[in-house]
Amino acid sequence: MNIAFIGLGNMGGPMATNLYRAGHHVTGYDTASVAVQGVSSAHSAVDAVDGADVVITMLPNGDILRSVANEIIPAMKPGAVFLDCSTVDVESARAVAAQAEAAGLLPLDAPVSGGIGGATAGTLTFMVGGSDDALAKAAPLLDIMGQKTVHCGASGNGQAAKICNNMILGVTMIATCEAFALADKLGLDRQAMFDVVSTSSGYSWSMNAYCPAPGIGPKSPADNGYAPGFAADLMLKDLRLSQQAAEAADADTPLGQAATDLYRRFVEEEDGKGRDFSAMLPRFEGRRRG
Ligand code: NAD
Repeated sequence: MNIAFIGLGNMGGPMATNLYRAGHHVTGYDTASVAVQGVSSAHSAVDAVDGADVVITMLPNGDILRSVANEIIPAMKPGAVFLDCSTVDVESARAVAAQAEAAGLLPLDAPVSGGIGGATAGTLTFMVGGSDDALAKAAPLLDIMGQKTVHCGASGNGQAAKICNNMILGVTMIATCEAFALADKLGLDRQAMFDVVSTSSGYSWSMNAYCPAPGIGPKSPADNGYAPGFAADLMLKDLRLSQQAAEAADADTPLGQAATDLYRRFVEEEDGKGRDFSAMLPRFEGRRRG
């Protein structure tokens, strides 16, 4: 297939390379000058999408997605798939999908989980919103870039699934970190804490697969000085999207709001910027009540 890939950053770059390695022709565009293996670079987004069967975007946020969509939709081939893999707000995802559909395109919102490691290894999970027809066309590419695709329903539902998942993740990571810090103060050995919780009702992905305590459980960013991994800044972005969606849908999400407030403080006022989101544990370690 002829593929256009717009946004060749930490995630988009390796995803585009995997498509090239699988035998597809990939033309890319990024506002930063980046060289990505196997991707021929176009001078503009509009140039990149010329004649493409599938256009993939992997961009920082909803405003940028909307502005790129305004540029490229009129230039895309009728019947082409517009596959947005960025994490953006549900409203932007739905607005861009409606605009693409009105232009005779097949839109999909398909945010990912799995991070840079998953993008490089081709093992991402895609959460997809959009029509069956659009998904059928994009599925072979999703199978190259990832190992699992879940069709979540109509346009925007991929983003809805992503932010609900990450709201749970933010909350459970905070809960796991504060429990470790409490256990320390109670004189409970961290290995014993892990052995109990990871096999008891307090278990979670944050504890079992991504333990925030160094030297405990499987290897995680805690074992690498809390270098990301999944940066606290990105967790804050996703939590803010969850609260924006909750506001728009009039949903009561008190723990999601508390997690957003805490990650905002951590990233903007403390030393969380650029650290893994599990570095909440050293943050709690150094603190007292109140
Ligand atoms: P990144 O900042 O590394 O990449 C974004 C790229 O988009 C940059 O190279 C930037 O120059 C480019 N860009 C910005 N504006 C543009 C425009 N108008 N036209 C063309 N290119 C433009 O970010 P990333 O880590 O690759 O993340 C991309 C998306 O994936 C985000 O929405 C993020 O939330 C999501 N995501 C990231 C991770 C992760 O672990 N990094 C995990 C899951 C989801």
